[in-house]
Amino acid sequence: MQQNIWDTVIAGGGPAGLSAALMLGRSRRRVLVVDAGSPRNRFAEHMHGVLGQEGAHPGALIARARGEVADYGVELRRGAVERVERAAREADGLRIATADGDVLRARTLIVATGLSDELPDIPGLAERWGTSVLHCPFCHGWEVRDRRLGVLATTPLALHQAELIRQLSDRVTVFTGLLGALDPGIARRLHARGVELEPEPVAEVLGTGSDVSAVRLRNGREVGVEAIFTAGAPRPHDGFLAPLGLERSETPFGSFLAVDPTGRTSEERIWAVGNAVNPGANVPMSIGAGAMTGAAAAGALAGWDFDAAVRQDVEQP
Ligand SMILES: Cc1cc2nc3c(=O)[nH]c(=O)nc-3n(C[C@H](O)[C@H](O)[C@H](O)COP(=O)(O)OP(=O)(O)OC[C@H]3O[C@@H](n4cnc5c(N)ncnc54)[C@H](O)[C@@H]3O)c2cc1C
Repeated sequence: MQQNIWDTVIAGGGPAGLSAALMLGRSRRRVLVVDAGSPRNRFAEHMHGVLGQEGAHPGALIARARGEVADYGVELRRGAVERVERAAREADGLRIATADGDVLRARTLIVATGLSDELPDIPGLAERWGTSVLHCPFCHGWEVRDRRLGVLATTPLALHQAELIRQLSDRVTVFTGLLGALDPGIARRLHARGVELEPEPVAEVLGTGSDVSAVRLRNGREVGVEAIFTAGAPRPHDGFLAPLGLERSETPFGSFLAVDPTGRTSEERIWAVGNAVNPGANVPMSIGAGAMTGAAAAGALAGWDFDAAVRQDVEQP
């Protein structure tokens, strides 16, 4: 294999990508992480549910992880992967174009580019994302326990989320205006534990600075809440792979690259991991998945090296 070919390029340097990089760096592989530097949780000041890092700033984990992988020779570059194609000869691997005009060559690619949360277009909502508008009860629920909580349901799945939110507080209102008519069985179930249902659509989120105090409904009525849980539509950052026509999975959360349990896509040289393929993965889950994917890519590279050695042996006895 030629010297100017990376063993692995990792697109995305969040928890998933850096965890994969750690496995590969420690396997003495030549690894480059290209990272655009906008992790999904950049809106939050504190991280929770992360064993050993409870309450830490998300950026502190990334800074430490970057240092750790660099110690094993992994190179880190700020930038964005813009296009990926197969090289003309299969043995030459992949050609990976970056936004700054570079073309990288790599034997394998790990896509750990995360996703964007596309929030409903309601004034006052996006501005408070990560502070008093929250996406996940495990990440930020404890901090708002016993307060007046709202659940802005964007899909029927939010009605299941409401059951988790009810565990945090006995004052929960679910705003169902974006869903239309509700199944009477579900309404009965939520009422049974004292959850209030508000079918009138939400027109605006009110409050001071990053705090929420109420939502104003379309009919002008205000309902007091001190935090709102909602789920944006997850949009995985995988558009740069579109020309390859990789297989996809249609899920209740949207369309994602189809991967096997190690993160391998339908192209044997490409893996995808973390929020790019699993919107429900929090930080520790992304770290775990990244470790699995990094190890899988290391295994594939080792196997190909042996295959090549055997071929050479046969050709030049
Ligand atoms: C507001 C908020 C708060 C959260 N709080 C918590 C919490 O408290 N605890 C918890 O466990 N989880 C939390 N999460 C979830 C957490 O953000 C994710 O689990 C985690 O970020 C997933 O890691 P990842 O590596 O897959 O993606 P990310 O961390 O999003 O990293 C992806 C990286 O890839 C980069 N990238 C994107 N496109 C490209 C490209 N084309 N080329 C190169 N790089 C690219 C991005 O800029 C980014 O740096 C929170 C999420 C949100 C939205």
